[in-house]
Amino acid sequence: MTSPFSLRGKTALVTGANTGIGQAIAVSLAKAGAHVIAAGRSSCAETVEMTKGEEIHLDFADPMAARDVFSGRPIDILVNNAGIIRRADSTDFTEADWDDVIDVNLKAVFFTCQSFAKAAFVRSASAKIVNIASLLSFQGGIRVPSYTASKHGVAGITKLLANEWAAKGINVNAIAPGYIETNNTEALRADAGRSAEILSRIPAGRWGRAEDIGDAAVFLASSAANYIHGTILNVDGGWLAR
Ligand code: NAP
Repeated sequence: MTSPFSLRGKTALVTGANTGIGQAIAVSLAKAGAHVIAAGRSSCAETVEMTKGEEIHLDFADPMAARDVFSGRPIDILVNNAGIIRRADSTDFTEADWDDVIDVNLKAVFFTCQSFAKAAFVRSASAKIVNIASLLSFQGGIRVPSYTASKHGVAGITKLLANEWAAKGINVNAIAPGYIETNNTEALRADAGRSAEILSRIPAGRWGRAEDIGDAAVFLASSAANYIHGTILNVDGGWLAR
C-alpha cells in the first residue's frame, strides 16, 4: 500500500533551494520520492547533488520571474520559500528596503502561485502549494517592518488563494517556521543578548534546524493533507503557544 505521505511520481519546485530552509525542504521532498526542481538566483548545484534532481535559475528581483516556468511541463508541488529580510529602525527604514523585501517575499509569491495555478487548471490537475510564512505572520517583530508586512501578507494570500482554489483541486497552505538556524537569523544569533532572550522563550529549548521544516513541507505536499486548505502550520518549537 502506498503511504499517504509518499510523493513518488510527483514533481516539486522549491524556490530559494540553494541553502537553508529551502535546501532542507528540497531534500525532504526528494526523500519522500519527489523529483525536485531546485530554483534559485544562486547555483543550486549542492541541492541537485543531494536530491538527484535538477535546477533552474529564478531571480525574484523580478517578482514576475516565474511567469513561464510552469507552462512547459507538469509540476505538482510548489514551495514558495525564497525570502529576504532587512533590519533597521522604522524611523530610518528606506524605500529600497521596503520595496526589495515586498517584491521577493510577497509580490513574487503571489504571482508565482498565479502562474502555477493557471498551468494546473489547464491540465485539470490537482496540485499543492506550500508558502513559507513566519512567526512575523502573527507577531510584530522589531526593526523589520517590510518583512513583517510581507509575512502577514503571505498568511493572508495563503488563505485567500485557498478560498479561491480549494474546490478546483489546489491545496494552498503555509508553514510558519520559528527561529531557525540559517543565514536569515545570523544577525540575531550573533547578538548574544537577543539570542539568549529568544532561546529562553522557546518551549522546545533549542533553535530550530532547517530539517525541522522539511518534513512538515512533505506533509502539506502529500495526499495526507488533501483536506487541509488555508492553514498556517507553526513549526516553531512551541513559540506561539507561549
Ligand atoms: P536564507 O538561508 O537566507 O535563504 C533564503 C533563500 O531565499 C536563499 O536561497 C536565497 O538565495 C533566496 N532568495 C533571496 N532573494 C532571492 C531572489 N531575489 N530570488 C530568488 N531567490 C532569492 O534563509 P532561510 O531562513 O532559509 O529562509 C527561507 C525562508 O524561510 C524565507 O522565506 C524566510 O523568510 C523564511 N523564514 C525563516 C526563518 C528563520 O528563522 N530562518 C523563520 C521564519 C521564516 P541566495 O542564497 O542566493 O541569497
